[in-house]
Amino acid sequence: MDPRQVLRQVFGYEDFRGPQAEIIAHVLAGGSGLVLMPTGGGKSLCYQVPALCLAGTAVVISPLIALMQDQVEALRQAGVRAAALHSAIEPQEGRAIELQLAQGELDLLYLSPERLLAGFLERLEGLAIALFAIDEAHCVSQWGHDFRPEYRQLGVLAERFPAAPRLALTATADPRTQEDILDRLQLREGRRFLASFDRPNIRYLIRDKGDVKNQLLAFLAERRGEAGIVYARSRSRVDGFARELRAAGFDAVAYHAGLEAEQRRQALERFRRESGVIVVATIAFGMGIDKPDVRFVAHVDLPKSLEAYYQETGRAGRDGLAAVAWMVQGQGDVPQLRRFIEESGAAEEQKRVEQGKLDALIGFVEAPGCRRQVLLRHFGEELAQPCGNCDLCLEPDRTMDLTLPARKALSAVFRTGQRFGAAHVIDVLLGGDTARIRQHGHGSLSVYGIGRELDRGQWRSLFRQLTALGYLVSDSDMKGGLRFGEEGLVKPLLRGEAGLALRLPPPAKEQRRSGAGAAGSGSQAGGTAGLPEGVDPELVAALKAWRLQQAREQGVPPYVVFHDRTVLEIATRRPADPEALAEVSGVGAAKLERYGAAVLAVVAGAIGATGPPP
Ligand code: ADP
Ligand code: ZN
Repeated sequence: MDPRQVLRQVFGYEDFRGPQAEIIAHVLAGGSGLVLMPTGGGKSLCYQVPALCLAGTAVVISPLIALMQDQVEALRQAGVRAAALHSAIEPQEGRAIELQLAQGELDLLYLSPERLLAGFLERLEGLAIALFAIDEAHCVSQWGHDFRPEYRQLGVLAERFPAAPRLALTATADPRTQEDILDRLQLREGRRFLASFDRPNIRYLIRDKGDVKNQLLAFLAERRGEAGIVYARSRSRVDGFARELRAAGFDAVAYHAGLEAEQRRQALERFRRESGVIVVATIAFGMGIDKPDVRFVAHVDLPKSLEAYYQETGRAGRDGLAAVAWMVQGQGDVPQLRRFIEESGAAEEQKRVEQGKLDALIGFVEAPGCRRQVLLRHFGEELAQPCGNCDLCLEPDRTMDLTLPARKALSAVFRTGQRFGAAHVIDVLLGGDTARIRQHGHGSLSVYGIGRELDRGQWRSLFRQLTALGYLVSDSDMKGGLRFGEEGLVKPLLRGEAGLALRLPPPAKEQRRSGAGAAGSGSQAGGTAGLPEGVDPELVAALKAWRLQQAREQGVPPYVVFHDRTVLEIATRRPADPEALAEVSGVGAAKLERYGAAVLAVVAGAIGATGPPP
């Protein structure tokens, strides 16, 4: 069958996205290669469509059981003959699958690398293999963050199956990891497909850290009923935030390595299978979650690096609908993170690498321009225009000439001896009366009380930016104490030879008002309140209720039945007959046959009220 026909009939999608068409054509012509596409970019179709166009079975190697299971369920819903073999499959079911395979009755077979290498290669050798897809291919490399030794041996596929196309796919591989993948998987002859790493539907919002709990609750207030992830750094903070959210009436579960395996499994299951669950997690959570309708990812602590930030935020909005990546950041985080690195016991070189990564992250957080431009630049991609969908684009006019306050800040650091942290120096600038000021006689300094034009929060932000830009240095062995950075930077500013434009948060009094406004604009894109113009929220709710019921009966996640995107489109178009329903993106032939009548009935209002609430 022609690939476009497969796309329409089986998956119910109108057109290929980005480089999909090119990749599929390449594979259908017998080519191999490496595909780098961001999360949610649509990697799966790159091998699923060829699997249905070519004769024989496509073998997909995947390291994650949950992910395999989801994909197999979704494919079966679309009427595709798919199965998975891994450690969680009962022996009896396994034998049935192997029989199907031998008889050529499988379009796709998902295998763990262990299973493949433990004697399964021989079994595949006599069969017609359409292609091999190696998912999460970065696992091949020690440079990547999820090295799996078995992946290294997958190079044998090239020798044992020279005729079968091999496609390696990943969402995270820096150039070094890419080289490793090409070498290890013997893909040097193949092509490299790089999609843009931009995720335009994700709105990046970064807020100055205040009372985090209340900031988070305010952010979530607009998002009741939506699924999301809240990342915190430590187990105790995870437990604490999960408790606070539950107390505020949110359906929140904790997830970290300190919990029993069974508790973790349940948290994961609920998150995947129910709608509107919030997982509060350490970074241990997320790998292998391909839930498409995660509407927000919130960081209450800074992530480790920009790579980690990109990956963690990338779990939002895989379905392409509006999603929000929200983060609070404060100066207090940075010395602590630096200390973690210093005390990690890693080799010196490794520590330097980690410190460098942290610097890049701070630079991103503090940079005065468009978030997306800075983020993509870090990954080697230039975005020509500011994105219009990050806090700095949406709330412009936030940089101003702050040369004078910056000079005052530097002078105060100098006059107090370049050894105090920002808090004390700010006390001096504001003319405070603290024990420390009295103890050190700082009340008599020329800089005492010269900074009353800004409030404390504004000064804090200014110090943070001066630090991020290198004017001030905060050494971990100084316990957060500040000293001057490079002379070439500091001197011209102090002498009045150079100016400085920085961002300034609104004064504390106004913060509440404008804060609410900003939260409101965020929800427009992400919240259920942000349904497209003219869509009946009751119909959406009825369709979701029906979907949840279906999902429960079949024991699959709701999005396997229909994605949110499809539900919204149905509610928008209000199809009256099967032909009109078939036009909706995500409604393929199998789903039309299976669910068409029921969906049309919901649309017609026949059973809308009888389902459970969503
Ligand atoms: P990845 O594995 O790259 O993270 P997926 O393959 O899971 O991404 O695809 C992300 C989402 O986009 C899925 O919900 C998928 O059904 C959808 N999708 C992929 N390709 C298309 C397309 N051409 N048209 C419409 N939706 C698509
Ligand atoms: Zn922007």
